Amino acid sequence: MRKLIAGNWKMNGLRASSDVIAEIVSGLEGADIDADCLICPPFTLLGGFAGQTKGTALKIGAQTCHSAVSGAHTGDVSAQMLADIGAAYVILGHSERRADHGEASADVALKVMAAIEAGLIPIVCVGESLADREAGLTRKIVLDQLGASLPDGLAGHPFVVAYEPIWAIGTGLTASAEQIAEVHLEIRTALTARFGDQGQGVQILYGGSMKPANAAEILGVANVDGGLIGGASLKASDFLAIFRSAG
Ligand code: PEP
Repeated sequence: MRKLIAGNWKMNGLRASSDVIAEIVSGLEGADIDADCLICPPFTLLGGFAGQTKGTALKIGAQTCHSAVSGAHTGDVSAQMLADIGAAYVILGHSERRADHGEASADVALKVMAAIEAGLIPIVCVGESLADREAGLTRKIVLDQLGASLPDGLAGHPFVVAYEPIWAIGTGLTASAEQIAEVHLEIRTALTARFGDQGQGVQILYGGSMKPANAAEILGVANVDGGLIGGASLKASDFLAIFRSAG
């Protein structure tokens, strides 16, 4: 399956970061890698980066959206607004959104539908905490989150799933190849049971301290169809090295 290498800039980046985008775009030119490349900057940079990358191999996405199309939601941004400004993807249900903003899987499912209706590809994040893993609850937590975050209306529409163990995000800890293989297989099985053939073709990304030194091993694990990369996506040379590992 074609891979997706996606960068999540979180709350990082200013207009001057267009230099990083320019470096990524030039690094992608002529790269013969069977993978798509995506950067998800903060809202403030979406329009500028979408204009800067138009016609290039680098896609631009957002990090969340509201579930409504418009209305009295001070400070929020709708999926339609994201599509209008040039985003192609939106990350939904990231563990930092679940923790910082109390997003439950039911909220995520509503946002996923909003994204689909706006023509965006949602990247739906799931993952267990260290306490969950140590209690032997990884499978249950991940599959419960997955089931409740994916609305039935997704059938027939493109979407991506990201497995991000919370204990591996921004910590320098990475799940082992065995741990990743086990969870990705569970996710693949659940997607196929629910969405049939479509579930076979859904890209399942791994996220959690991916860097140039571990990318090739992780991207070589069965059912790993790409990466969601936080810290290492902020430096063009690191992000490009991870991208090249997908080839
Ligand atoms: C993320 O937050 O999606 C992530 C994977 O972060 P990092 O790569 O920094 O662990």
